[in-house]
Amino acid sequence: MIPDLIIGLIMLTALLVLEGTMPFYLGREQRLRHGLRNGSLAVLNGAIGALLAPLLMGAMAFAEQQGIGLLHWLSLDGSMLDGWPFPDLLATLLTLVLAVLLFDLWMYAWHRANHEIPFLWRFHQVHHTDPAMDATTALRFHPGELLISSLLNPLVILALGIGLTQLILYKSVMLTIILFHHSNVRVPSRWDARLRWLIVPPSMHRVHHSTIPRETNSNYGTVFSFWDRLFGSFRLRPDLQQIVFGTGHHDEPAWQTLPRLLRLPLAPTRTPTQYRQ
Ligand SMILES: [Zn+2]
Ligand SMILES: [Zn+2]
Repeated sequence: MIPDLIIGLIMLTALLVLEGTMPFYLGREQRLRHGLRNGSLAVLNGAIGALLAPLLMGAMAFAEQQGIGLLHWLSLDGSMLDGWPFPDLLATLLTLVLAVLLFDLWMYAWHRANHEIPFLWRFHQVHHTDPAMDATTALRFHPGELLISSLLNPLVILALGIGLTQLILYKSVMLTIILFHHSNVRVPSRWDARLRWLIVPPSMHRVHHSTIPRETNSNYGTVFSFWDRLFGSFRLRPDLQQIVFGTGHHDEPAWQTLPRLLRLPLAPTRTPTQYRQ
């Protein structure tokens, strides 16, 4: 989808500049090489997403025509908001907010499943084996993970009754937030703490990328931080500068090439459940 891609590219460019001028972790080397490697995974994933887009569009059209899915069943409209100013506009906005919240709840569940289910972790670990986290880490996913989620998303669209505008809005918000919370930008801690009440800021997601298992298995939120508070997976640590990024397995330079990252799901690995503390 074009609008969210454009928003993502603008956000990525802005963050790459900020990472160069006000980085949180100093002394980063080979930023370009690191970014190109993560970017090449993004290109592969973009191709898979484009190939499977008709499936997603078909699911949305079917849900719309048949009126199926939670949001269609609720069918919020202006008549339900009699007495309120601009009832039709308000109903549309409420539906949009609900769609974003519901899809983000699905993303929380999907991310958590990627840590809990050994087969899914084999793919998701590629995201976590990045030894230096920055905005490009938000693009680093194994094509296998993207393929599975692209096959599941049409079912989620059918269940929730999400439409094209709502999905584009969610994807735009999601891309903005995930690029931001992976970035190596020095965000004043007071701002970070305020943002944390609503969204997942860098302080939360840096903990999620720690090599310490109990930290990796926390902060699963994508856009909103309250899912982690609600489901007991919220975790902070004060010494963010001391975090070691990675899984503790396969983070070495030898694993940081595109062919090896693509083969990583085949390598013997310990699942998060096995090394949970
Ligand atoms: Zn994760
Ligand atoms: Zn991440």
